[in-house]
Amino acid sequence: MDKIKIMNLEVFCNHGVFKEENVLGQKFLISATLHLSTRKAGITDSPEITVDYASVCKFIDEYMRVNTFNLIESVAEHLTMALFAHFSPLREIDLEIKKPWAPIGLPLDYVSVEINRKWHTVYVALGSNMGDKLSFLENAIAAIRNDVSCRLVKISDFIITEPYGPVEQDDFLNGALMIETLYTPAELLAFLQRLENEANRTREIHWGPRTLDLDILLYDDLVMDTENLVIPHPEMHKRDFVLKPLCQIAPNAVHPLYHSRIRDMVENI
Ligand code: ATP
Ligand code: CA
Ligand code: CA
Repeated sequence: MDKIKIMNLEVFCNHGVFKEENVLGQKFLISATLHLSTRKAGITDSPEITVDYASVCKFIDEYMRVNTFNLIESVAEHLTMALFAHFSPLREIDLEIKKPWAPIGLPLDYVSVEINRKWHTVYVALGSNMGDKLSFLENAIAAIRNDVSCRLVKISDFIITEPYGPVEQDDFLNGALMIETLYTPAELLAFLQRLENEANRTREIHWGPRTLDLDILLYDDLVMDTENLVIPHPEMHKRDFVLKPLCQIAPNAVHPLYHSRIRDMVENI
């Protein structure tokens, strides 16, 4: 991916945990590496299809003067999110905030915090088999669409499927989504579980009836295994009610453990 770099933009503003810092202000230096494709703008020499670095600098300057935080960690975090929200071609940002006048009573060049944040591509499975199933799925999709840390990219058709597992229950409505998110895997799981709770999801019987079930299938090409979160979803390759909707929106996505395309996984089920 191509990069646009901004080095040591100087902003005078009031972040810090000490009252003096908030009142008197001090100098901060901001460096940013903006990851995006500049190919098209470069070939056509069209300013309107790239990210204008002057606008980015003005945005950073204003954001840091209007908002005041205790920690430069927070400045970095919130500024990065605001940049993603405002400049949609940005795929990834490295941001460093230096504080050359940090009031620690000892001489130093500067202290700094540097973070890297990016949009992750994620596939989510949706399911419901209680109450107004379609509304539960549609409400979840609307909540994902409205969340600043998510962008909805694709929605599959919904399919009706017979229940799976040992419990006698109503048919399911299933679907899949492709989203982009700034959330970490754990944050995304927490967000999706909040949506399940808002749909009055209860967990009485494992694999029992539910108003809303949101599972993370794939998260970039990440492989992880923690107590609360396993990615890729460990059952996805066995389930046609997951693979069929997923295949509709991402036939050529590759499972990072089986190294096979979703379209081939559907055929081999
Ligand atoms: P299954 O995971 O077999 O589809 P389920 O969806 O009915 O079963 P839940 O009761 O919804 O199971 O979730 C049980 C736990 O699974 C959750 O509390 C969550 O911590 C954990 N979990 C592990 N990996 C994932 C994942 N990839 N997506 C969603 N939840 C996961
Ligand atoms: Ca599930
Ligand atoms: Ca689940």
